Amino acid sequence: MKLSLYFLASLAPLLSSACLLPEEREGLPRRIHRRQTSNGVPIGTGDRFSAGTIAPRGLGTQSTTLTTLLSVAEISSGLKALANVYGISTFTTPYTTYNGATISGGKVGGTGTCNNAYRVYLNGAIHARERGSADGLLFFIGDLLYANKNNVGLTYGSKSYTSAQVKTALSSGIVFVPLSNPDGVAYDQSSNSCWRKNRNPASSTGSSSIGVDLNRNFDFLWDFTKLFASSVRSSVASTSPSSETFHGTAAFSEPETKSIKWVMDTYAKVRWFIDLHSYAGDVLYSWGSDENQSSYPKMNFLNSTYNSVRGILTDTPGSGSGYGEYTPTAENTDNVKAATRIGNAMSTAGGRSYSVMPAADLYPTSGASDDYSYSRHFADTSKNLIHGYTIEFGFGNSAASCPFYPTQAQHQKNIQEIGAGFMEMLLAAVDIGLGDPVAC
Ligand SMILES: [Zn+2]
Repeated sequence: MKLSLYFLASLAPLLSSACLLPEEREGLPRRIHRRQTSNGVPIGTGDRFSAGTIAPRGLGTQSTTLTTLLSVAEISSGLKALANVYGISTFTTPYTTYNGATISGGKVGGTGTCNNAYRVYLNGAIHARERGSADGLLFFIGDLLYANKNNVGLTYGSKSYTSAQVKTALSSGIVFVPLSNPDGVAYDQSSNSCWRKNRNPASSTGSSSIGVDLNRNFDFLWDFTKLFASSVRSSVASTSPSSETFHGTAAFSEPETKSIKWVMDTYAKVRWFIDLHSYAGDVLYSWGSDENQSSYPKMNFLNSTYNSVRGILTDTPGSGSGYGEYTPTAENTDNVKAATRIGNAMSTAGGRSYSVMPAADLYPTSGASDDYSYSRHFADTSKNLIHGYTIEFGFGNSAASCPFYPTQAQHQKNIQEIGAGFMEMLLAAVDIGLGDPVAC
């Protein structure tokens, strides 16, 4: 295991593109790619869903070329269309963003209609510039509903699923939020500025320091300056409002992260969670704080004894001051099992190789959504176990002004891989377990 960690560490310069550019990870100013003027596949104009009357349909049920990305208006129209065409229920969280946007989602499938019937939560576009996340999620749900209604299967590139598997996948009960950072995405789409965070200026010291990194704002080891080893803090998160990884003024200070927590609280039997990011070609499972260990239950994120050594990946848990984040063997086995299936399905779909690894193998983080979801049942034993994942779809566009802006060909492949990854996650969830029987 150590060997593989060292091997991965040697690859860090290559792998560290996940959500962050290398210089961002190291806390240095981001270089502007001056000679590269392409913004990749353009943002759609108009409304392909015709004011919520034509349902989104992705690449799993048809062969078509996606020539544009969904605009913020189209994401909203597409969600409305799923409700209008297929009769699915939608919801809006109780929190409004800095720019006054609401955060909405939908729920599909399941074996009942009460909140406890939904066991999988798919979340998109928390990082604004990671283009194609909302598209991939909305198109996948559209495919699933189309295939179910018409009794057909799904084909994502070289990965196919039967009509029976579509119905099995839907039986899991899915809540989904395609656009969890509406202000950030609206700004990124209008400015092509490679914007990652939300648009909350409350803590900023000027126009260059607006925004909170939502994926450092969750209540999992949020106060990293106290909870991580000093040697790793600079890569875990930042207290500086101008940083791409600024963690905010408090855990859950932001309406966007409050909204995601609200979904998990409201649909309290959710057992599986995916946050959809780009890019690195990775499927990440918990933990992201330190290497995993299953031998020392008291060696965990709630134990302040380890605050000075948490986040060091080169130590050996249980030896000297070595620390590893505790994950019970059975839970870890399931975490890995589903992640492996997702990674294999995405690799097959697009013919590009996705890596499956614990999140910490990229670099240790605090306050991320995947770890927060998995941490809930440790921090409060009355809460349901959630297996949490980050998918980093795609492999970057070095020719673009922002490497997170895919070319048309990349976007096409990304959408196929996302569809296969989500589909495989739903089937894995059903196979491995959805938790308590549904009583509604
Ligand atoms: Zn991201």
